[in-house]
Amino acid sequence: MKNIRNFCIIAHIDHGKSTLADRLLQITNTISERELQNQVLDDMDLEREKGITIKSHAIQMEYEYKGENYILNLIDTPGHVDFSYEVSRSIAACEGALLIVDAAQSIQAQTISNLYLALENDLEIIPVLNKIDLPSANPEEVTDDIVDLLGCDPEDVLRVSGKTGEGVEHLLHTIIEKVPPPTGDPEAPLQALIFDSVYNPFRGVEAFYKVVNGEIKKGQEVKFMATGKKYGADEVGTLKLKQVAKKVVKTGDVGYIISGIKEAVEVKVGDTITSVENPAKEAIDGFEEVKPMVFAGLYPVDTEEYEELRYSIEKLILNDASLTFEPESSAALGFGFRCGFLGMLHLEIIQERLEREFNMNVITTVPNVSYHAFTEKDPDKAMLVNNPSELPDPSGLNRVEEPYIRASIITKADFVGQVMTLCIEKRGILKNQNYLTQHRVELIFELPLAEVVFDFYDRLKSISKGYASFDYAPLDMRASKLVKVDILINAEPVDALSALIHVDNAYGIGKKMCEKLRELIPRQQFDIPIQAAIGAKIIARETIKALRKDVTAKCYGGDISRKRKLLEKQKAGKKKMRQIGRVEVPQSAFLAVLKLN
Ligand code: GDP
Ligand code: MG
Repeated sequence: MKNIRNFCIIAHIDHGKSTLADRLLQITNTISERELQNQVLDDMDLEREKGITIKSHAIQMEYEYKGENYILNLIDTPGHVDFSYEVSRSIAACEGALLIVDAAQSIQAQTISNLYLALENDLEIIPVLNKIDLPSANPEEVTDDIVDLLGCDPEDVLRVSGKTGEGVEHLLHTIIEKVPPPTGDPEAPLQALIFDSVYNPFRGVEAFYKVVNGEIKKGQEVKFMATGKKYGADEVGTLKLKQVAKKVVKTGDVGYIISGIKEAVEVKVGDTITSVENPAKEAIDGFEEVKPMVFAGLYPVDTEEYEELRYSIEKLILNDASLTFEPESSAALGFGFRCGFLGMLHLEIIQERLEREFNMNVITTVPNVSYHAFTEKDPDKAMLVNNPSELPDPSGLNRVEEPYIRASIITKADFVGQVMTLCIEKRGILKNQNYLTQHRVELIFELPLAEVVFDFYDRLKSISKGYASFDYAPLDMRASKLVKVDILINAEPVDALSALIHVDNAYGIGKKMCEKLRELIPRQQFDIPIQAAIGAKIIARETIKALRKDVTAKCYGGDISRKRKLLEKQKAGKKKMRQIGRVEVPQSAFLAVLKLN
C-alpha cells in the first residue's frame, strides 16, 4: 500500500489534461510508441471529435523511483459541468490531484470548481502550469494567479508541456514524493467505492472502484450497498491499457469487477461494494442518485420508426444510466419519448449518437427543466412536470416551482458589467463578486436552471469574447411566475413548441420565437401565420408569405439532369421535415427557441 499513488487530473476543458495523461503513460511505458494514439483515455469516437472526456476511466502505471517500484493509478475525470457528480466520485477515490492550468488561458471556472471538490476531499494538490511551449504562454502572470488561488509558493508550481514532454518526468517524481499513499485497513470488511462503470456488450457491465478498506477477491460474493443487489465476483483485476485479471485487488488499489451485471442502471457511481459474508456496517459517504436536469421529447422524423427509436434508446441506456426515457405523445409529432438528460451537452451527445450509431433521424423538442406544480386542491403535494404540456390548467393551479442553480462565472474584469447584465436579464441574483486576481473576477449567481438551458452559454461566450467560463451546481426549487407560451402554426397549436416562460419575458420571447420560426420554416404555396399565445390570448404574430412560383417551373424544357438534381435535393431536405397540418416544418425549427438573440 505504501507504494501506491492514486491521483486525478483536474483542469478546465482544453487545458491539456488528456495530452498530459498520454505523456505520463508513455514515460512509464504503460503504452508503447506504437499503441500511442493521441489521447488514449478518450476512447469514444464522439469524445475524440468533441475533444472532451465524457466518461471517466482509470489506468494503472508502474514506475521505478529511487530503487522502489510504485503503482500509480491515474483516474481520469470528465471535464464538463453536466458530469460533475462523476467528477466528484473520481476525486473521492484519490489522494492527490494535479491541478492543470493552461499557461495562456489561466484559471477558469472548472479549474476552481474541481479544485474545491479536491480540497473538500483533502487531496494533496500539485499545481501544474501546462503548455509552457506556447508562444502565447504567460508563465509569470499565470503562476501568480495560481499562487493567489492556492496560497502556495511560486516554486511549487511545476512547469510542463504535455505536448513536448518537458517537465513531465519531474512531475512524476513530484507525484510520488507529495501524494500520500492510501490509508485503508486491509483487515476491515470490504468497502470499495465505485467511481465509474462501462457497458461491454460481451461481458456485461464492468464497474471501476477503489478499494477503500479490505480486499476484493475473485469468486467472492459481493453486495452493492445502495441497490442492495448481490453478485458473484466472476472476475476482478487492475486496469492497465487492457484489463489484467487478478486473484485479489488489495486495499488502496484501483480495479474493475465483472459480475454478470446486464444493465448500466444496476451500477451506480458513488455506490459501495461490500462482501456478503462479512459486510461493512456503513457505505462510503457521499452517494447520490444522479437525476436528469433537462428534459426533451425525442420523436422519429419518420413516424414509422417509432419502435426502432425505442430500441435505439434502450441500447443507449444499457451503457448510459444517466439517460432516462418514457413514452409520450404529442398532438403535433405523434408518438415519441420524453428523455431526461444531465444537461445540454448530454442532450447533444445523445442526439448525435442516435444519428451516428443507430442511423436514426430524430426531432428534439424544446428542452425544459423539471418543474413542481401544486394544485389548489392539494397545495402541499408536488406534481412532477417534465413536459410543459402536462402543466395543470392555470385555473386550478396554486403555484409552480422551478429548479435554481448556484452558478460560478469567471471572467476578466473588463467584462464584468456585461456578464452581470446577462445574468440579471436571465433572472439571476448576484450573491458574490470575488476578485481572484487583479484581472480575474468570479461572480456567483443564483439562477433559474431553465434560463441557462436557453442560449446562455452562447451569449456568455460572445459577450466575453470567449473569456468567461461557467460552472454550476443544483441549489433548490423556488416558486416562480411561469406561464405557458404556445405556438400556433397556420392556426394549429404545436404542443412540441410550447415552453414555460417567466411572465415578464413571455411577450419578448413569444415575439422572438415567431420571428425565428418565420426564418426557419420555408415558404410554401400559401401564407402561413405563426402566432404565440398565452391561453387564448395571442401575444405575437408573423406571417410567412406564399411562394410565387413553382420551384421546378424554371426547369421545364431545360436540362433533365438539373431538374432531377433539384428534386433529389428537395427530397433529401424533406427527410428532415415534419408535416404539421398543411405545413412542412424543418427539424431545426423545433429547437428555434434555443437560438433566440
Ligand atoms: P483536455 O480537454 O484538458 O483533455 O485537453 P486536451 O489534452 O484535449 O488538449 C486540448 C488542446 O490543447 C489540444 O489541441 C492539444 O493538442 C493542446 N495541448 C495540450 N497540451 C499542450 C501543450 O503542452 N502545448 C501545446 N502547445 N498544446 C497543448
Ligand atoms: Mg480530454
